[in-house]
Amino acid sequence: MEKTVAQKLEGLIQLQNIDSKIQEIKKILGALPEEVADLEDEIVGYETRINKLQADIDDTDQKISNYRQAIKDSEALILKYKDQQMNVRNNREYDAITKEIELQELEIQISEKRTREANQTIETMKSRIDETAAHKSEREKDLTSKKKELEEILAESKEEQERLAKERDAAFAQVEERLGKSYDRIRLNARNGLAVVAVERDACGGCFAVVPPQRQADIRDRKKLIVCEHCGRILASVTDIPVVEEEKPKRTTRRATTRRTKKDA
Ligand SMILES: [Zn+2]
Repeated sequence: MEKTVAQKLEGLIQLQNIDSKIQEIKKILGALPEEVADLEDEIVGYETRINKLQADIDDTDQKISNYRQAIKDSEALILKYKDQQMNVRNNREYDAITKEIELQELEIQISEKRTREANQTIETMKSRIDETAAHKSEREKDLTSKKKELEEILAESKEEQERLAKERDAAFAQVEERLGKSYDRIRLNARNGLAVVAVERDACGGCFAVVPPQRQADIRDRKKLIVCEHCGRILASVTDIPVVEEEKPKRTTRRATTRRTKKDA
């Protein structure tokens, strides 16, 4: 027996509600791996920072040993100059050597000052490494729990997806095959994933193109299925499409909470 237009519409809307649920699950599943990837990137970032700081410390250590060598060289020179001073022939030579000694003593002071500064720099960099390592280990803990959460959700949603797939098959079987195929095709092309939309404020609920009064009257008459002239979606009256109460799975809230914590941190 041929179904009435109202029954056809009802079947399509039922099918669409199931598809929306399937879509929502896919969206949630799609976002989680991204969050895991974000955390992994963040951890790599901390590692890079630590390695860079460690390399800077090594450089600074090298500088310190250069200063130490410079000090030793100056000390050796001073000893040599003092030796030479024993054998000078006149005051002028003596004064010249004294100046050289003073110069080397100054060099030693500069190297000592730079060594102190370098040591301070190393202390600062070490404490930065400690801070970064603390952030890193915190994020690693987050990553472990996020991965666990992902596994749980995958297992949970696998059941749900299988259940919805069966529901969908059943709903699809209730719709005429040709109509069901059209529905699938329209849905595939619809950016919002909706093939059946209501006319709201004289416009198509999918593309917002104006629906002429005559077509609106035809929709209300329910003598045949009317599609939007602009986007091809199947049009229905607002009263035909019940407001689907969005099932908010608990994981959505859980995810949002984690996000907020991450942002605040
Ligand atoms: Zn449209």
